[in-house]
Amino acid sequence: KQPSRELRILILGLDNAGKTTVLRVLASEQDEIKNTTPTQGFNVKSVHSQGFKLNIWDIGGQRTIRPYWKHYFEGTDVLIFVVDSADMMRMDETGEELSELLQEHKLAGVPLLVFANKQDLDLAMPPDEPAGYASPDLQHNLLIFPQIAEKFQLTSLTDRRWQIQPCSALRGEGIQEGMDWMAKNVS
Ligand code: GDP
Repeated sequence: KQPSRELRILILGLDNAGKTTVLRVLASEQDEIKNTTPTQGFNVKSVHSQGFKLNIWDIGGQRTIRPYWKHYFEGTDVLIFVVDSADMMRMDETGEELSELLQEHKLAGVPLLVFANKQDLDLAMPPDEPAGYASPDLQHNLLIFPQIAEKFQLTSLTDRRWQIQPCSALRGEGIQEGMDWMAKNVS
């Protein structure tokens, strides 16, 4: 791996998961976040930073235009998927979207980094607690929600490297750890 190589990183996730906030943590102050609107009508935000080209967009509600995404998927080095760990209402939808992405031919074998974001919130789903675990601190009963890695069936993924990283993009915590994993696992 050349030190000067530009890595193409896709940051995906439902709207409101915290993708833009992650991007802000990764970009330095002089890096300008650009909004690109390709003709197909979806928004891509991008930034060049520290040898990375980071492209992000929301995946919810964009199923019909997915065929156009292949142009962006092509040549992706790492896929980052951001989850709002506290949004129990949309956890199923999040899992479905991730599972569809993992079936995309253009993303086959691409290492996957899942940011279990918003861990600063009390209700956030713990990234790696055993299924059925409920912290006594939690005000809501999370028993019916298996932990994220299990819910998304990451443990049965054999066709790519993957990592789940708890973080709070808002506080800037956990992001660097995720990027360290990424740097080690990019092919
Ligand atoms: P995007 O739609 O995925 O780009 O999400 P944004 O980055 O715009 O974030 C959506 C909302 O969640 C904003 O109000 C953020 O301030 C908030 N948010 C993002 N990351 C965190 C986090 O780690 N903790 C908390 N509590 N809020 C967050």
